Amino acid sequence: MSLAAYDVAIVGAGIVGAACADEFARRGLSVAVADRDQIGSGATSAGMGHVVTMDDSEAQFALTRYSQQLWQKLRDELPADVECEQCGTIWVAADEEEMEEVRCKHDYYGEREVPAEVLDAQTLQRLEPNLRAGLVGGLLVPQDLIINPPCAARFLMERAQKHGAKLHLDYSVVQAGQGRMQMTDGFEIRAKIVVNAAGAYASELTPGVEIKKRKGHLVITDRYPGFLRHQLVELGYLKSAHSISSDSVAFNVQPRRTGQILIGSSRQYGAEHRGVDSEILAHMLQRAYEYVPGLARMSTVHARAGFRAATPDKLPLIGPWPGDESLFLATGHEGLGITTSLGTARILVDQIMGTKPEIAIEPYLPSRAAKVPAHAE
Ligand SMILES: Cc1cc2nc3c(=O)[nH]c(=O)nc-3n(C[C@H](O)[C@H](O)[C@H](O)COP(=O)(O)OP(=O)(O)OC[C@H]3O[C@@H](n4cnc5c(N)ncnc54)[C@H](O)[C@@H]3O)c2cc1C
Repeated sequence: MSLAAYDVAIVGAGIVGAACADEFARRGLSVAVADRDQIGSGATSAGMGHVVTMDDSEAQFALTRYSQQLWQKLRDELPADVECEQCGTIWVAADEEEMEEVRCKHDYYGEREVPAEVLDAQTLQRLEPNLRAGLVGGLLVPQDLIINPPCAARFLMERAQKHGAKLHLDYSVVQAGQGRMQMTDGFEIRAKIVVNAAGAYASELTPGVEIKKRKGHLVITDRYPGFLRHQLVELGYLKSAHSISSDSVAFNVQPRRTGQILIGSSRQYGAEHRGVDSEILAHMLQRAYEYVPGLARMSTVHARAGFRAATPDKLPLIGPWPGDESLFLATGHEGLGITTSLGTARILVDQIMGTKPEIAIEPYLPSRAAKVPAHAE
């Protein structure tokens, strides 16, 4: 049974699918979105909501910085439940070697006009008195933001709906491409453009897309207003994010407007179980206590897990999928999809509508990684 025809059909109502729906709908295209669960219930529900400019590669920098600026522009329109705060990030250096990294990062941001300030040990202690003594300094990046990811996804989807987008929740998509999106119960949506924004599950619908699930955990504490003021991340976080094989944890904490503190982060490959893994959770918390001992006295109210969608070259897949002219990808955002959702949507829609993207799109094109099955046309 076929439903109406649309300009665009999107699989996935995570933050990336929601941002794409919003962008397409606001630019006047008719949009249908299907998700087998609820809005923002996948990785988006486990996301920490740190909107961060990163410097791993020029391509990662370009997309994160562009997206962060889009979030900045959207700030005044975000409803209160998105809890958007410009708290800034402090990258914490535990020793001289990490302090050297702080200086490199500072130079990199400085050359690209991102405000950043090197902090010595005393200033770090003054800004964040609950960090343990003995840390050598850090880098303050004041324009980084925090948001509540599922609420942000809901806001974007509702805005898309106000512009006419149709949302089908609890619909599992079994086929996406060749101008249609087919659901388990036989419903079919026809569309000129089909966007696979199924996050860590994208390769189930588009064989040949190389996405690995990378599990992550998040712990949420009770309310302790004023205990922390910035998103605090250890420099070693980058080593953890870079590790492509082993399980890893890193100190990464965030103060919410409610006074709650989000504690991350962990990374695991090969963990398929959706539930919370108490062993890695214990490692993650232990790491956090090493930096902020007072966290150990706090009561935690909740722990969550989710799957990041990891690509081999650590960049997302945004654009046409070779072999099917109706099919586009918006996935593979690993640990940065909350940040880069807005930039992803912009450059995807620019590609489709023929408007000039504000950043170069080539590093993210899926053709760089396509292993199209022989039978695909
Ligand atoms: C612990 C943790 C912390 C993180 N912290 C941050 C952070 O601080 N900052 C940041 O920028 N990023 C962070 N991330 C990464 C971020 O959460 C993800 O990159 C982002 O949520 C990806 O969004 P998405 O819409 O692509 O995927 P998802 O949110 O997973 O959405 C995909 C949707 O597709 C649906 N779907 C899948 N298959 C089908 C199907 N066959 N039919 C119908 N629907 C389907 C799912 O139900 C789901 O709703 C974190 C991730 C984790 C796990």
